[in-house]
Amino acid sequence: MNALVEPAVSLLKQAKQVHGDALVYPCSMGLEGSVLVDMISKHGLNIPVMTLDTGRLPQATYDVITAFEARYGIRIQVLFPDCHEVEAMVREYGVNLFRKSVELRKQCCEVRKVRPLMRALEGKEAWVTGRRRQQSKGRADLQSVETDSVYGLKKYNPLLEWSLDDVWSYVKENDVPYNRLHDAHYQSIGCECCTRAITVGEDERAGRWWWENDEVAAECGLHVMSIKQVVGEIEDGEGI
Ligand code: SF4
Repeated sequence: MNALVEPAVSLLKQAKQVHGDALVYPCSMGLEGSVLVDMISKHGLNIPVMTLDTGRLPQATYDVITAFEARYGIRIQVLFPDCHEVEAMVREYGVNLFRKSVELRKQCCEVRKVRPLMRALEGKEAWVTGRRRQQSKGRADLQSVETDSVYGLKKYNPLLEWSLDDVWSYVKENDVPYNRLHDAHYQSIGCECCTRAITVGEDERAGRWWWENDEVAAECGLHVMSIKQVVGEIEDGEGI
């Protein structure tokens, strides 16, 4: 375990040293989030932890936010979408628009996730992610430190080489709070309506937007994007 923990902590320290207050950790409150919140708190790294409240989260996610705050004595910054944007979108397409088409699902993710995150990243230089190479084929080629090709925003991936078993081992050995949905065979946890449990042999992210059945579409816009993409100057963008 130490062979994985030390490089991960080292990368977090390096990121903090380089970027200082311009570094943040937008946490998805999944199992990897448990590891990173524990590392950041235990090592006194003072990296602000934030999370996105899309308005469609499962209760278990609010409960793990509360558990983190109680355990580590921190306040997690909760980001909300613009209520006027959500109202306009729902007025036009309905509350379950994400089931109607891939485009509307991406629009919902953009309004509820990507735009709030981009507002939080304004003026920042870098962010930490909990992505792991093994989570999906689409994450196989990630690097531990990446740069947004348009604006130069750095992304640090301290858990890149961790397996799911490694993550579980850390959480259990350190008695870290975690989202109880993981005990019900949920792996990648997002909005309640867009997340399901997975079965043996399925890709870890197969429980996200499963009805689309498309590897490329199984991202929400947070991790293959740029600020320009979010404001519409560039068309492509995929992404927690
Ligand atoms: S995960 Fe589903 S409900 Fe949540 S923002 Fe994306 S499309 Fe909307």
